[in-house]
Amino acid sequence: MTSAREHIEFDVLFVGAGPANLAGAIHLMQLAQKKGLDLDVALIEKGADIGSHALSGAVMNPIALKELMPDYLSAGCPVEATVRGDAFYILTQRSQHRLPIVPRVMKNEGFHVISLSKLVHWLAGIAEEMGVNIFPGFSGAEVLYAEDATTVTGVRTGDKGRDKDGQPKSNFEPGIDILAKVTVLGEGAKGSLVREMNKRLGLFDGRLPQTFETGIKEVIQLPKDNFFSNSPFNDVHTLGYPLGVSTHGGGFIYQMAENRISLGLVVSLGYTDPMMDLYEQFIRFKRHPLVMEMIEGGQVIEQGARTLENGGYYTIPKLAVDGALVVGSAASMQNGPALKGIHTAMKSGMLAAETMIQAFSLGRFTRDALDLYETLFENSWIKQEIYAGRNFAQAVSKKMPAKAIHLALQVLTGGRGLIDKMSIKEDSKTLSPLRAGMDSDSGRPDERQNYDGKLFVDKLTGVYLSKTQHREDQPCHLVVHDPDLCVDRCYSTYGAPCTRFCPGGVYEMDLDEKTRKRRLKVNFSNCLHCKTCEIKDPYENITWTCPEGGDGPGYTVM
Ligand code: SF4
Repeated sequence: MTSAREHIEFDVLFVGAGPANLAGAIHLMQLAQKKGLDLDVALIEKGADIGSHALSGAVMNPIALKELMPDYLSAGCPVEATVRGDAFYILTQRSQHRLPIVPRVMKNEGFHVISLSKLVHWLAGIAEEMGVNIFPGFSGAEVLYAEDATTVTGVRTGDKGRDKDGQPKSNFEPGIDILAKVTVLGEGAKGSLVREMNKRLGLFDGRLPQTFETGIKEVIQLPKDNFFSNSPFNDVHTLGYPLGVSTHGGGFIYQMAENRISLGLVVSLGYTDPMMDLYEQFIRFKRHPLVMEMIEGGQVIEQGARTLENGGYYTIPKLAVDGALVVGSAASMQNGPALKGIHTAMKSGMLAAETMIQAFSLGRFTRDALDLYETLFENSWIKQEIYAGRNFAQAVSKKMPAKAIHLALQVLTGGRGLIDKMSIKEDSKTLSPLRAGMDSDSGRPDERQNYDGKLFVDKLTGVYLSKTQHREDQPCHLVVHDPDLCVDRCYSTYGAPCTRFCPGGVYEMDLDEKTRKRRLKVNFSNCLHCKTCEIKDPYENITWTCPEGGDGPGYTVM
């Protein structure tokens, strides 16, 4: 049984309830009120609630929020803590060395530790009060185009109520066509709509390949008397163990309110070891003596994972096309060296809002009108920040000592370095094949088995603590294009790395005892929507598509 597809029309449609789109929606309403413009604005979000799919470290530079709402603190912005001091450690397996000076880009004193889930939830309440129609539980399934096949006219939301074979069930509801004069794509890193738009409109043509990092994060409840109670610093970053000098990434620990901490490990997906298990590395980080001292007596209350883009300026796509704008992480608006993207995402959304107000004054929504966004970006402080780190991802993808030389020269030359616009490989192309006798670099038996279920939880308990849910009887949203390739070439060449890079334990390589044949099993209901598999699969054999709206993680304090 099928029902007719509904159409709804708005002036502006924001897709995704991240900081870029919410700041953009609020700023749009502020400017529209000033101009006396009456705009119909909508925002859709695939998570069941606003904030349920939002995950970040997070220390936020409040510069953009101050511009948007100078009174943000008295207006009730959910700040967990304000950074009173930074500490930067180099870790070896058993010891640590605190750097006497924190690198300038990592100095966060005065910035706010926040939960991104809580921040976007709060921003959504403000946007709603200003008249934005907010629809959580609606995924964007495809971009809609005008007859010319290139002008974006809106988004079709995902169907609900299909069975695992894709057939409509009795409760089937077809997706809705949400049409708008301008559609703003703010889906976060590796968005599926932007990916498909790129195939049609060449958004990333001529750019360096986008590169990514995966962050695994926990919020840990500590006892009242804990490491940070009397510590002069509450913002900690680490380099070194467990990743070593060849793999870029590091750890973070931030003090939150109510004796909680935010703890995570971020790993560049340009890593080369096919046996690396990202979750095992995260557990190793937690077991380091310094980290153990900081988390002693704690209990994990929420866990999650997400990729972030770190490619920088040379990976920024076309920001405007006919009828659409791209903002936030989807548009590479990340200050990679500082590991910060919330303020840059917010500012990009605000610049998009200024562009749209101008377009409404002109009554034109084609690229020539929306290109103002590119101009505003080029003249803004975010351009300066992102441009300064334009060769950073490329430098840290090198091995030592080349990495150190490039980084030092970039510091001395304001980001230019030895070669400006250094090249970089796509993350899917960096794994080395298995060597004879190669075994896992991580996950020694003692680490795999010593999960106490409280401070150290295994992958599946972590998925449980992310409150991830998917209706089981729906089509699998993780499309493995050629399952035979997984069993034949990928297993023998790379040892099925998806079974290790997925932090949700979604992929398992089963062996049928009778036939002795292997088969890739995809436990899609564990998917944390982090997108690592689509990025890191060495054969680009996995495509992440949106499951039913409302499914996925249920973050509340991430
Ligand atoms: Fe992340 Fe892919 Fe695993 Fe889902 S299946 S948790 S997107 S790596």
